[in-house]
Amino acid sequence: SVPLSFFAGIGGASKKGILIKGAKNLETMAKCKTLAVDKTGTLTKGKFTVLSVNPQGVSQDILLEAAAYAESMSTHPIGISIVQRYGKEIDGARLSDVEEIAGNGVRAKLDGKEILCGKKALLETNGIAAQSSEDSATAVYVALDGKFIGEILLGDEIKETSATAVSRLRELGVETVLLTGDKKDTAEKVAKKVGIKTFFSELLPENKVEKVEQLIKDPDRRLVAFAGDGINDAPVIARADIGIAMGGLGSDIAIEAADVVLMNDDPSSIADAVKISRKTMTIVR
Ligand code: ADP
Ligand code: MG
Repeated sequence: SVPLSFFAGIGGASKKGILIKGAKNLETMAKCKTLAVDKTGTLTKGKFTVLSVNPQGVSQDILLEAAAYAESMSTHPIGISIVQRYGKEIDGARLSDVEEIAGNGVRAKLDGKEILCGKKALLETNGIAAQSSEDSATAVYVALDGKFIGEILLGDEIKETSATAVSRLRELGVETVLLTGDKKDTAEKVAKKVGIKTFFSELLPENKVEKVEQLIKDPDRRLVAFAGDGINDAPVIARADIGIAMGGLGSDIAIEAADVVLMNDDPSSIADAVKISRKTMTIVR
């Protein structure tokens, strides 16, 4: 049978918007030594602003229109911000064959012409060379009809509580490791600002799973939690010893895969969850 204090622990956590799915997960959470985190929407606000629209060989309007149409079905924060910046109605009749390529970008047809919109590598694997003008911003590259037509630079803000969360976790003996699909320069900048020493960049969703598996194998690092906002992250949330879905109402598949769901999007709640679970375990013992 499950000791009553487990229910007290789980109940106490839920008052703070931390939903721990059962006694077993509370026990695992208490033993966690490494927290792997996603960047976008987890350490950062996940609300990008378009910093600049840099066309090549076309007008700014054409570049922005192509990107916005391609992104119009995307739930990724990058896609949402590009559609917002475009600001005009999307005419569904002009759009076809929309496909999101997880951790890479999107592919779609506008007036029958193919658009690729996403990472440089996405264009390159399709035989299209792309130029970049900046290294420290998140960049989206766009191709229309097989030709590179420019880049869109975007910026995201770090959450006010991210640095505090990382230092609170460190005090609890939990080291935070950053796993991101974004570029090295962006990853490094965010890691430095929030006080994370170890970071891995340019990871596809499946590479995040592999990284977590490596961390789990390291006796000095386990048990390993992973926290993400749920966009693309369900597989790694499922694979971690403790999977944490942030932002509560984010993605259903991520909430389903998670062991812990945070109703808020405050990374400090992860430190609260560790604290509450450890306290509960000392009472049980
Ligand atoms: P993170 O690990 O920071 O949460 P993601 O795995 O969600 O990042 O995305 C990694 C990278 O993939 C982004 O920085 C972007 O370059 C590219 N990307 C992902 N989805 C999209 C999209 N819908 N449109 C354009 N680029 C995208
Ligand atoms: Mg993400």
